[in-house]
Amino acid sequence: MRKSLYRIRRDLHPWPKPPGGPHYSACHFCDTLHQAVPLPEGTAARCQRCGAALYQNRPASLARVTAFSIASLILMVVVNAFPFLTMDAAGIRTTLNLVSGARALIAEGSPVLGIALALFTIVTPLALAGGLIYVCGPLMFGRVAPGAFYIAKLLNRAEPWNMIEVFLVGVLVSLLKLEKLAEVHFGAGFWAFGAVMICMAAAISGIDRNELWDRLEVAKP
Ligand SMILES: [Zn+2]
Repeated sequence: MRKSLYRIRRDLHPWPKPPGGPHYSACHFCDTLHQAVPLPEGTAARCQRCGAALYQNRPASLARVTAFSIASLILMVVVNAFPFLTMDAAGIRTTLNLVSGARALIAEGSPVLGIALALFTIVTPLALAGGLIYVCGPLMFGRVAPGAFYIAKLLNRAEPWNMIEVFLVGVLVSLLKLEKLAEVHFGAGFWAFGAVMICMAAAISGIDRNELWDRLEVAKP
C-alpha cells in the first residue's frame, strides 16, 4: 500500500519536455544517442551501453534550489556581520572578516589578491544564490522571470568561479602555520561560511541542467 502511494506521488511530478519532440540525449562517456523521455520525480536516466547517468529528475528540485539559495544569502549576511577569525599575538587582538581581510590585502600592497578574495568568496556566491532564486523561484509556479534564460546561461558559466571550498581549505592550511605564532579563534562568520559552502553545493547540485532548461522552455513568461 505504502509502495503504491509512493509511486503515485512520484508520477505526479514528471519532468516536462518541450513540445515538438522527439528529444535526444547523448552519453557524455560513450556518445551513444538515446531518446530522452520525461522522467518521474526521483529517478535518473542511464546510458544503455555504459550505465553512466544521462540526466536526472531530482525530488522537489526547484523548491530545494530556492530554499538552499535563500539559506545561503541569509548565511552570507552572518558571514559578513560577525568575525571570521580572531588572532591574539604579542598582546594584540586582531579580528578579521572577509571584507576586512580583502581590504587589508589591498592596503598592504596585494590589490589583485584582495580583489580576487572579495570576488570569489563574496560576490560570486551572492550572485549565484541570487541568480538561482531569480530563475528557480518563479519556475516553482510555472512562470519564467524576465531574462531568466540569459541568467541561467550566466549561472552555468559562473559556477566554476564559486571558490568557497578552495578558500576554506586555504584558511585551514594557513591556520596550521599561524598556530605557532598566534592564538587563533574561529568566529561565527567562519562557521556560517562553512554552512554557506554546504548550502551552495546543495543548491547548485539540486537541479539537473537539462531539467532546468526544459522547465524554462515549458513555463509561461
Ligand atoms: Zn554511455
